[in-house]
Order: sequence, then structure tokens, then C-alpha cells
Amino acid sequence: MKCAICQHGRTTDGSTTIVLERAQTTVVFKNVPAKICGNCGEEYVSAEVNEALLRQAQEEAERGVTLEMLDFAV
Ligand SMILES: [Zn+2]
Repeated sequence: MKCAICQHGRTTDGSTTIVLERAQTTVVFKNVPAKICGNCGEEYVSAEVNEALLRQAQEEAERGVTLEMLDFAV
């Protein structure tokens, strides 16, 4: 797809690292599938993946974890 931010680049499939914070909990997700703009580097994560990340971060927060590093797997 075409990048919505810079309007010039095209996105390619790749993976990225995403950090989510909830109150005192920080969750680092590695290897998150994303489409990355070859021009500006903007990363696009699908709604489905984003939802999974938010759900996981919420679970970690409820467990009272302060810092968690996870390999993302759909
Ligand atoms: Zn771009």
C-alpha cells in the first residue's frame, strides 16, 4: 500500500518492536508484524494485531508485571 504519512513511499512487510505502557506496567513486544514505509519509516500495524497487543498489555497490567518483554505471535 501507499504510505498515508509521506504520500511517497510504499510499504513493505516487515516486523517491528512496539512498547505499550499501562499505569506501572511496560510491555515490549518484539517481532510484531507490520507494514513499513520505505521512505519515511512509518509503521502500520493491522487492527487485528493492534487489538491483540492491547489485550496482552492489559493482561500483564492486571498481573501487576512492571516490565515484560514478549515475542509477538499471532
Ligand atoms: Zn512514508
